[in-house]
Amino acid sequence: MDVALSAGRIAAVGTPGSLTGPAVEGGDRVDLAGWLLLPAPAEPHAHHDSALTATGPPPAQTPAALRRRITEAALLQLGHGATAQRTHVRIGDAVGLAALEAALEVRRSLRGSAELAAVAAPRVLTGLAGAENRAVLRDAAKMGAGALGGSPDLDPDPAGYLDIVLELADEHGCAIDLHTEGDEPARLARLASAAGACRFGVTLGPCAGLLRLPPDVAARAADRLAAAGVTVVCLPQGPCGLSGAAVPGTPARLLAAAGVRVAAGGGALRDVANPVGRGDPLEAAYQLASHGALRPAGAYAAVSGGARAAIGLPEVRIEAGFPAELLAVRGETVAGALSLAYSRVVIHRGRIVTRTSAVREYCGTTGDGGGGPELPRQATG
Ligand SMILES: [Zn+2]
Repeated sequence: MDVALSAGRIAAVGTPGSLTGPAVEGGDRVDLAGWLLLPAPAEPHAHHDSALTATGPPPAQTPAALRRRITEAALLQLGHGATAQRTHVRIGDAVGLAALEAALEVRRSLRGSAELAAVAAPRVLTGLAGAENRAVLRDAAKMGAGALGGSPDLDPDPAGYLDIVLELADEHGCAIDLHTEGDEPARLARLASAAGACRFGVTLGPCAGLLRLPPDVAARAADRLAAAGVTVVCLPQGPCGLSGAAVPGTPARLLAAAGVRVAAGGGALRDVANPVGRGDPLEAAYQLASHGALRPAGAYAAVSGGARAAIGLPEVRIEAGFPAELLAVRGETVAGALSLAYSRVVIHRGRIVTRTSAVREYCGTTGDGGGGPELPRQATG
């Protein structure tokens, strides 16, 4: 197919050679024969402020060091194809607003290359111990954190924590994006009913603890989340720094069966929670499909449309009028792309923003011509 992009949108889609006219003829052309063009993935659950700190000396928390780390993590994920990313950012306690300020600066500096959104994530919010963090969270909302988060599970009073976040989100027009294990049905029910009261969208994750509940209890909890319109972001690669201990598998299948909007994210990117985290949406989708949680198309939808919905961004389809947020990978099928996709072309707002090319050469593997198998000299993927 031919796809014409204009002003950050898909202008037209047609059979090969069918798109003509001055706008198409005068523009740059990219030959993607042999490639699969997909709606770009997005990263709905990153921790850029702690990313890339798994090895080496304790990470510096100066504004410059924070900006450098957040930028490096965002660019790494952009290279994978995530043209939109939402990062949870620690606020309060020792860090104050420094990491959030850094994330918002990086958001500005990356404009045009990637879209970065920040979730303000405090620890304790209730009682005397939480007084200062409550003030910091209010400042974060005023500063431009698009969403308020953190983990009610880690507060001595989870219900009180939720009330504070709900009130501030309503006052400042913020979405809510909370960490929860999801292994306490009463708490999940409170979160679901709170979602009904929030005007700007509620996202929860990673909810891996649902797998520890009896199946009928977990199914009822999933039904409640579906009815409340909550989006759940699963982390198939493992827990992040704010979620609990690793639970093998993800509740994606259970949630999808109940009609919950399911997204999947990378979570920890080479920090102490996961020193080998890749932050690659195709890896997250691979994990979902590989372990049978979702079929390949559903797994890709969780890291693309589902992920964009979790961030509050509009849908992308490869049809005229939709945002030109695209990923091209070599191959012909989504399953093939989830199995192996080193080479990628990433398009944001109608412009190529990163390109990765992989070439593999087989050297000396065809033997001396004495009847061994003919192997390709070169392969791409
Ligand atoms: Zn997290």
